[in-house]
Amino acid sequence: MDAALGPPEQMAELEEDLTPMMAQYYELCRQYDDALVLFQVGDFYEAFCAAAQRVARLCEITLTQREDSTGQYPMAGIPIDNAESYVETLLDAGYRVAIADQVEDPDEVSGVVERAVTRIVTPGTLTESELLGGADNNYVAALTEGERYGLALLDVSTGDCYATSVGSATAVADELSRFGPAEAIVGPDVDVDRDAVFGPACLVTRYDADAFGRERAEDRVAQYFGPPERLLAGDAEIRACGGLLAYAEYTRGSSGAVGPDGEPVDPDVDPAGTLDYLNHLTRYDPREYMLLDAVAVESLELFERRSVRGHENRTLVDTVDETACALGRRKLTDWLRRPLLDADRIEARHGAVAELQRDPATREALAGLLSDVYDLERLISRVSRGRANARDLRSLAATLSVIPDIRDQLADADARLLADLHATLDPLTETREEIEAAVRPDPPQQVTEGGVIREGYDEELDRLRSTEQSGKEWIDELEASERERTGIDSLKVGHTSVHGYYIEVTNANLDAVPEDYQRRQTLKNSERYYTPELKDREDEILRAESAADDLEYDLFCAVRDEVADEAERVQALADRLARLDVLVSFAEVAAQYGYCRPAVGGDGIDITAGRHPVVERTEDAFVPNDTRLGSGPLPAAGDGATDDGRDPFLAVVTGPNMSGKSTYMRQVALICLLAQAGSFVPAKAADLPILDRVFTRVGASDDIAGGRSTFMIEMTELATILDAATADSLVLLDEVGRGTSTADGLAIARAVTEYLHDEVGAYTLFATHHHDLTAVAAALPGATNRHFETSREDGDVRFDHELAPGPAAASYGVEVASMAGVPESVVERSRSLLADAEAADSGVDKPGAPAESETATDSDADSAAAETPGTAENGTAAASTGEAASGGHTQEALQANGAAVEGELPESVAEQLASLDVATMTPIEAMNALADLQDRLD
Ligand code: ADP
Ligand code: MG
Repeated sequence: MDAALGPPEQMAELEEDLTPMMAQYYELCRQYDDALVLFQVGDFYEAFCAAAQRVARLCEITLTQREDSTGQYPMAGIPIDNAESYVETLLDAGYRVAIADQVEDPDEVSGVVERAVTRIVTPGTLTESELLGGADNNYVAALTEGERYGLALLDVSTGDCYATSVGSATAVADELSRFGPAEAIVGPDVDVDRDAVFGPACLVTRYDADAFGRERAEDRVAQYFGPPERLLAGDAEIRACGGLLAYAEYTRGSSGAVGPDGEPVDPDVDPAGTLDYLNHLTRYDPREYMLLDAVAVESLELFERRSVRGHENRTLVDTVDETACALGRRKLTDWLRRPLLDADRIEARHGAVAELQRDPATREALAGLLSDVYDLERLISRVSRGRANARDLRSLAATLSVIPDIRDQLADADARLLADLHATLDPLTETREEIEAAVRPDPPQQVTEGGVIREGYDEELDRLRSTEQSGKEWIDELEASERERTGIDSLKVGHTSVHGYYIEVTNANLDAVPEDYQRRQTLKNSERYYTPELKDREDEILRAESAADDLEYDLFCAVRDEVADEAERVQALADRLARLDVLVSFAEVAAQYGYCRPAVGGDGIDITAGRHPVVERTEDAFVPNDTRLGSGPLPAAGDGATDDGRDPFLAVVTGPNMSGKSTYMRQVALICLLAQAGSFVPAKAADLPILDRVFTRVGASDDIAGGRSTFMIEMTELATILDAATADSLVLLDEVGRGTSTADGLAIARAVTEYLHDEVGAYTLFATHHHDLTAVAAALPGATNRHFETSREDGDVRFDHELAPGPAAASYGVEVASMAGVPESVVERSRSLLADAEAADSGVDKPGAPAESETATDSDADSAAAETPGTAENGTAAASTGEAASGGHTQEALQANGAAVEGELPESVAEQLASLDVATMTPIEAMNALADLQDRLD
């Protein structure tokens, strides 16, 4: 166990003798032994002993010592004023942090101040806005295992709650990767490979077994959401939800909550109450949504950038985000994370987007109104937890006040979703009026010091304030009246915070002081007095002021409670505003960037002039491309249509590096995904099927930035694809088979292609440098070849980024290397090697694979660009990558060149070489064959 957690060993020996304060610290560490305890001492949060050492090192603060009668303890203090950034550092280091605050006023107690853990900050249950990265969600997950796996997810800061169940650990990982939880707890019965299921970034711990028990879980779910059987499907789901709620309570320090050990957490501390803002649970069936696993989410760069070869792209969500408020931004992320499978629901969204796209005036008006919408989900969550201040309530009221205008804008809407929104957007008029009547327009941050409640709201309060006011006025007039009464012109009335009100008379005038003046304070040149009447007035002012402040606080809390009673309505409103915002945003993007309305539910993918939504924003002149996979018969019957008249559903895409293969494949996936999320798509026209899942496999060479061990991962992912893909899936294979020797890689690539073609029938795009694969595609009825055109201009290569039928005829690797700035001498040398190879090649050319040698040298140029020039120049880089051996003969040619063998290869060698079936050879077989050939040369 981590020495920074649990009761410090150093203190254990002295337990009986510890000072009262250290005994308190020790006890809290014992109770919260899975968290790092930060212990308030005045203006600091302190940690002691091993925890202090850890905190000091992580937060880069000074380690000091505390010394008392029992000994010396290492101590590290975090200033409370800017504790957030330090706490964040501790969370990043994988700790939970238990905040133990002083819960008594040190001025009012003698002896040691009582402290209690008021909250436990964990990566998944953060709520303070400082610690949350903007508008994004922050999930904590709970997993149980029974007949099925139960999964529950909760965003503590918004109250978003999801539950589902799935049949396998892989499916759990897939669902989790939609949400990317920062933290997870698992039930006692869970037995999964944590790293594989949750990923390395997630903090996973076991939690109190009882909380996951069926009965306890049922009770808890019922308390928050209603009857569990009605809401949830199956035992595992109920237990996951119950465990998660228990954990959420625990981190809030709520009464009745138990810690990880099952011990009740301090029952007296209940700053947050139960989590009543959680009254909406979304139970979903993964089968209702397109499945996007972690690999696809990552490689399509939906939510997070990944930098490949140093250049950073924007994410899809950034690119299509024109939302006006935080609610909308979160909903947009949710919709992209869970694209729909139901054609009616998808078309309903498209219908709304179409209407808004046609009507810029309404769209702009709505966007303007929505930009005044505060983050209602977070506001109402704070209200429910009793943490909202007066400004929060005013923000809520301000948001409610724009609802009628939003509804007006939707009054004539035809599209079903918009008409529904018009009918159901709830302005909560009484709630708004109540807040506006009670709370001042520009209230202070503090709710305990007055200035919060409006005049005229409460008679008693007004009376107290007017008593206070008239007392102050009386005192304001006192100076003039006392001067007149006493005849002392220099007499002054003043106030200090320590002594209160006084009348000051200079020493020269002391003779004139009347009888009823009582001495309060003696200064050097004057005396200060009060009169019984002044004292009375003063007391009256103070009493009224303090009573008024207290009353204001009570009134404020009453209003807040009233608002909390409407939490469910506010959440429903938040949800609708969020949907509206996304629809408006989709329409705005469609209008600004020329997206079209896709038809969905068809039999194949048919995209006219499709574009990559992200790349088109950064490229000056993006070249659109068509895609036809498995749709109607090919108009200009190219290389074969399938038996049923559909055109091929599998395309092998070839072309030199940088020609646009990866971009093209991703653009097809993103277009389908956007369509199913309800958005228009970047194309002239699109007729799309409903995909059940998008698979991506990005080859090793493209994944170097990810720093992952290549081949094994590649094959694992490939296995998943072949196992799980269906005829309704889209499979993108980008350079699969690069992680191993060419013969192996090609063999695998070929077998995969055949399997996807024969057994799966998935829509497939396969970008490859294995030119031999084009022959495989040409031979399969449902497969076709596509390639990227390139043209030469003045000896320079130009990428047209234009997709054409058939396999690539030539590649331009050397020119790419030259463009990339590889030294001219290396480029020249490469050109001459290429020419030699082509010459050698012509002798052994076999029909059906005209461009093999170019493909091979394309790879040479790749490595030349990637590695040091020296490696490439000595001619071994080609061999060492293993790729140059594509087709087997290039390396022969290089060797022949190196050995200065003149003339043609011996006929027998050439024949044997041509007869090798490289695609099916193992590396050992290939080496033996090579050795054999070499023998013959000698
Ligand atoms: P490949 O996978 O063939 O190596 P990429 O898809 O990575 O090529 O594209 C290389 C670069 O070319 C991209 O970063 C992009 O800037 C540009 N590009 C790709 N496709 C297009 C296109 N259709 N129109 C304009 N530029 C494009
Ligand atoms: Mg690529």
